[in-house]
Amino acid sequence: MKLSKTNYLIYRECGKNAWVKMHKPDVYYSYPLTEFEEGIIETGNEVDILARDLFKEGVLVEGRYDFALTKELIEKKTPVIYQPAFETDKYQIASDILVWNEKTEKYDVYEVKASNSGDDKKKKSKNELYTFDLAFQYIVLKNAGVPVGQLYLVRLNPEYVRRGDLDLHQLFTKEDFTDRVLETEELVKNEMHVAYDFLTQEKEPSGNCSCITKGRNSHCTTFPYSNPDVPQYSVHDISRIGLSKRKLEELVDSGILNILDVPDDLKLSDAQKNQIISAKTGKTMVDESGIKEFLDQLQYPLAFFDYETYACAIPRYDGYSPYNQIPFQFSVHILKEPNGELIHKEFIYTEKENPDDTMIKALQELLPGNGSIVSWHKSFEMGRNDDLAKRNPEHKKFLNNLNDRMVDLEDIFKAQFYVHPDFKGKTSIKYALPALVPELSYKDLEIRNGGNASNTWNQIVTDGYSKEDTEKQKKNLLEYCKLDTFAMVKIFEHLRDLVK
Ligand code: SF4
Repeated sequence: MKLSKTNYLIYRECGKNAWVKMHKPDVYYSYPLTEFEEGIIETGNEVDILARDLFKEGVLVEGRYDFALTKELIEKKTPVIYQPAFETDKYQIASDILVWNEKTEKYDVYEVKASNSGDDKKKKSKNELYTFDLAFQYIVLKNAGVPVGQLYLVRLNPEYVRRGDLDLHQLFTKEDFTDRVLETEELVKNEMHVAYDFLTQEKEPSGNCSCITKGRNSHCTTFPYSNPDVPQYSVHDISRIGLSKRKLEELVDSGILNILDVPDDLKLSDAQKNQIISAKTGKTMVDESGIKEFLDQLQYPLAFFDYETYACAIPRYDGYSPYNQIPFQFSVHILKEPNGELIHKEFIYTEKENPDDTMIKALQELLPGNGSIVSWHKSFEMGRNDDLAKRNPEHKKFLNNLNDRMVDLEDIFKAQFYVHPDFKGKTSIKYALPALVPELSYKDLEIRNGGNASNTWNQIVTDGYSKEDTEKQKKNLLEYCKLDTFAMVKIFEHLRDLVK
């Protein structure tokens, strides 16, 4: 059993998780990847392939871990090799790109990452991860007898704005990580030995894993396997409990794992207390005056509005930067007056060109010119309007006006005016809808979440479906987005009737 770079990097996050992945893949992979996770992998592959054009005419080592072909290519001093694989007695790697440097008579290593550098804090932690990634490669390459020169990190440049054809030398940044790698080499070498011994032991590491004192968002998919004594709805699900590590430790140390057993006198925030009270009593908590005050600020006509978008790593159209969201669809339900007729309008763009222009025209045509625009988690919709305005400054006034009228229905739940035991501390519409309007559900739809919608649209515009399937999927997308806004209407009506 050899230790790969991927498993070493997982080990650095969590040894137990890496062990389960290597020895019990059926447990590790027992949860299918989400659409979002699949999207990340697909994006990574797409970016890897595109980055190869930075170093033209290379030889691709096809298949996974073709050590023999790689050896042959290295011996021939092949100028550019994509995806070469190397192994030692304990370790194995597949690099992204090796480039022979005539001057130094060594191979320079280029590691491609599909990430933006991000803000300074994120950049720092990502740089650390990438340094360990490159150091692992460096050590294996050296031990495999490859003359290694400089080590570079290639990633997407968030400042790049597409104008015309993609300019790969502007789209990607190349950063020299050699010094960082050399500084870390000894540390990584030692860590690799420890990781190898730990991960190749046949005996499973015993006991609960360390996430027992972390909030649910930090848990990996193997948490239930390693912690069978923790109930499904546990103290780890208390809203934002991950930020109060000491409190969670206190509960776990006292053997309190079930949310129903949390003592009444434990100091918690109002939202946390409400979540626990509703879980214990099974009752809904309603602040009628808070809800009424919120609803009273709404101005008719009400437009219940929702965008669907696709975040594209490689800018597809002019004016777009890496990972900018492409708004491709919206749905709006319009209620002109209280108890008036409900009108539905929708728009979807499935051509290959930039949807911005047509999207803005549709917004101008289909949205009312006044009244409140009601959304769920409005920062997302407002962010898309801001992006559209940035790319299309001639429509800034119109788009700013939409944002000035935007109201967030989720605020009612965030403000704790309505707490249902089934919310389990969450305020997303996917929790609110089944609790408040159980007769309405996403379950029967072909597309059930935003990630699925994004990927479906991308498949349509990149010719991933037959003509017939494209029409079907278009219909599925329209149905999904329609339900998003109809769900808001129904939740709104439920709340309105409650405080009548
Ligand atoms: S739940 Fe946390 S500690 Fe446990 S295996 Fe997963 S990542 Fe590791």
